[in-house]
Amino acid sequence: MKISVVKNILEANQRIAEENRRRFSQNRLLVINFMSSPGAGKTSLLEKTILALKDDFRIGVIEGDIQSTYDAERIGQTGAPVVQINTGGACHLDSNMVEEALQNLDLARLDLLFIENVGNLVCPADFNLGEDLKAVILSVSEGDDKPLKYPLMFHVSNLLLINKIDLLPYCECNPDLIEERARKVNPNLTLFRVSCRTGDGLDSWTGWLRGKLRERK
Ligand code: MG
Ligand code: ZN
Repeated sequence: MKISVVKNILEANQRIAEENRRRFSQNRLLVINFMSSPGAGKTSLLEKTILALKDDFRIGVIEGDIQSTYDAERIGQTGAPVVQINTGGACHLDSNMVEEALQNLDLARLDLLFIENVGNLVCPADFNLGEDLKAVILSVSEGDDKPLKYPLMFHVSNLLLINKIDLLPYCECNPDLIEERARKVNPNLTLFRVSCRTGDGLDSWTGWLRGKLRERK
């Protein structure tokens, strides 16, 4: 009984995700879903990415949080249009919440839309939102065992950004091991190592993104 309820929720989610996807592609929009545990640096990475690309591309953001508009205010400082979703307790975004948020964004005037999911390495992996790409952000302070413990997140993602590499000297974390373990779960992952604090690796990430955006034009 419980299994069939969960299945119905995921099927309903998938139907709306496909509607979202149609709208995104009608508007030739690249949509990326940012997922990570709390504190891995999703919002900081968004800020840096927007600042690097905003002169050349039109970027919007949907911010998902259980509560508060703190992250949306941070993103708003970059000048990008931003819509905050407060899930009011739910630990992931679903396609219906995203559909509602889209009422507050002019998709025809965007090239790139980021969706920052609720900080959680578990259930966001189960809910398609209609995005083109899923990105998992993992900070080195979380340890190199995460691809072993949360394999679904790494399996469904297209991108892995290993963040806070400036902290490597202070952490018991081997980034080669993160990559090796993540690739075992998903050989197709595109990998980046970045530090939002020092700026290391950000050029190769934003350069890759520029290439993706030019492909669509
Ligand atoms: Mg955030
Ligand atoms: Zn959840």
